[in-house]
Amino acid sequence: MAFFENISRKVSDTAKAAARKSGDLMEVTKLNLSIGAEEDKIKRKYMEIGKTIYEAYKKGEELPYACTDLCEKVKEYERNIEEMKAKVLQLKGLKNCPSCGAELDEEFAFCPKCGAKQEVPEKPSEPEDSEESEESDDGEECTCD
Ligand SMILES: [Zn+2]
Repeated sequence: MAFFENISRKVSDTAKAAARKSGDLMEVTKLNLSIGAEEDKIKRKYMEIGKTIYEAYKKGEELPYACTDLCEKVKEYERNIEEMKAKVLQLKGLKNCPSCGAELDEEFAFCPKCGAKQEVPEKPSEPEDSEESEESDDGEECTCD
C-alpha cells in the first residue's frame, strides 16, 4: 500500500507546513500585539512628558520655544473647558464657589460649604461693590485650585 502511505505522508507534511505557517502567523500576531503595547507605553510616556513640561510652564520655568507654544495651546484649551463647564453650570442654574469650587445655587449669597460670600449675578436691587473678583485680570489664572 505504498500509494496510500505516500498520500498520508504527504498529508502529514502539508499539515506540518500548515501548522508551522499558523505558528508563524501566531508569532506575527503576538509580535504585532507586543509592538502595539510598546507603542501605547510610548504614547503614555509622551503624555507624562507633556504634563511634566506643562507643570514647569505653569510654574513659570523657562522652556524651549516649541514647548511654550504647545503649553499656551493647552492653557487655551483648559480655558475653553472652564468656560464651557461654567456655561453648563449656568444652564443648570448653578455655579462654582470661587473660593472652594463647590457647586451651589446661583442665588446663594454665601457658600454653604465654606461660607465664602458670593457675587449674586445681575440683580440691580443690591448696590454692592461687586468689582472685587470680576474676571478683569489679563490672563493670570487663579492658583487656588
Ligand atoms: Zn465655597
